[in-house]
Amino acid sequence: MNCPGEAGVPLVLGGCGVGCLNGHMADRSVLVSGAGIAGLTAAFWLAKAGWSVTIVERAAGARSSGSPVDVRAGAVAIARQMGIWPRLEDAATGVERLVFVNADGRPQATIRTRQRANHHEEVEVARNDLVGLLLEKARENSHIIRDDSIAALHHDEGGTDVEFQRSPSGRFDLVIGADGLHSGVRRLAFGPEEQFSRPLGMFVGTVRAPVPIEDPRSVLLYNEPGTSLTIHPAGGKPGFAFIFRGQHAFDHRDADQGRRLVESTYAGGGWLTTFALKEWGASDDRYFDAVTRIDVPQWAAGRVVLLGDAASCISLFGEGSSSAIVGAKTLTDALAAHPNDHAAAFACYENTHRKHIRPLQRSATIASRLLVPQTRSGITVRNTVLNALPFEHKVRTAPSSDSH
Ligand SMILES: Cc1cc2nc3c(=O)[nH]c(=O)nc-3n(C[C@H](O)[C@H](O)[C@H](O)COP(=O)(O)OP(=O)(O)OC[C@H]3O[C@@H](n4cnc5c(N)ncnc54)[C@H](O)[C@@H]3O)c2cc1C
Repeated sequence: MNCPGEAGVPLVLGGCGVGCLNGHMADRSVLVSGAGIAGLTAAFWLAKAGWSVTIVERAAGARSSGSPVDVRAGAVAIARQMGIWPRLEDAATGVERLVFVNADGRPQATIRTRQRANHHEEVEVARNDLVGLLLEKARENSHIIRDDSIAALHHDEGGTDVEFQRSPSGRFDLVIGADGLHSGVRRLAFGPEEQFSRPLGMFVGTVRAPVPIEDPRSVLLYNEPGTSLTIHPAGGKPGFAFIFRGQHAFDHRDADQGRRLVESTYAGGGWLTTFALKEWGASDDRYFDAVTRIDVPQWAAGRVVLLGDAASCISLFGEGSSSAIVGAKTLTDALAAHPNDHAAAFACYENTHRKHIRPLQRSATIASRLLVPQTRSGITVRNTVLNALPFEHKVRTAPSSDSH
């Protein structure tokens, strides 16, 4: 099968592929569920290729906060083609290193998280800034329904009838499930979440950190066995992240359970824990979830295809934001290359993008061990090993904080 981007097959950059009518795919409609990183990127490129694009987003408005996420590797070229790269650079957090501190706040070891300028182009930005820029681009040519979700999907030979929770029903040629870790489209078209999700025995909670930041280029991280507390300067909007190990049964719909888990796990902890817990308890803008691996054996079912975290992720670790951008472009290139055969397009997309994410998922395990050692001796060994490395060669990985 010929897939764009594979050896000898050209990438479709921005326009329509074979089969387009005057540069446009006439009368083809797609519904994208989720106005996140993957969904907005896909919407932009599909509308540009002439598809009639509708996006349905569950949230009523933009979220007030957002974890810093990365745009790196293949996602950089795509951001450039979309014309958002200079503004992403302006919005960059400027963080360059991760400093492991002890209970007195004294540095014990350091990792470089970002290469110096010009070697590797990449930025770390607040997720909201990235989503805001993608939204600006996507809404140029797409229709957005907010505060709504897909309630039911009915397929027939010629298309999919979609019932929404609030809006009138509609009919679409294709449906893209880009609605994240707890995807509703995946549940409706593929099966219950438990079939595809595997908790990794870790949890993450984030909340704003109203503290003065001495060094806006350094993330500070304090470990106790099985837990970490991070302060991310986040370009002037600092955030705490609680990342910890545990085997608790957890229901992501139960916000209060998350609050209690952080409080019981971190009670009596050192460094800034007491202050961070006070913020955690008082805030109405917390994020909490289990760190989860999503693995869907096949990303397409008929006219429905999954994208971004909905299809595959190790939430928190695994470079999900850049993968979401790259996956969206891979999918839209595949649809342009197979304009009359969505099944072939979906197969190309899945084949190409699975190869892209495989190595990223492997490095996620290393990152989790490095950031949250299980034992006190593990913390000491980690710091000793890092201190023995020359600074230039230190492992590059970064946790994020602030509410997601
Ligand atoms: C705390 C935290 C820190 C992270 N740090 C990093 C990092 O440093 N680097 C990195 O690369 N990645 C990071 N990630 C991962 C990254 O944020 C995700 O991989 C990325 O956002 C995935 O993009 P997406 O578009 O698939 O999903 P999302 O960005 O989650 O977007 C999904 C969208 O769908 C909407 N939605 C959900 N359900 C429905 C529904 N039923 N109907 C309609 N809309 C719905 C949501 O409101 C949201 O707008 C982090 C994740 C977390 C949780």
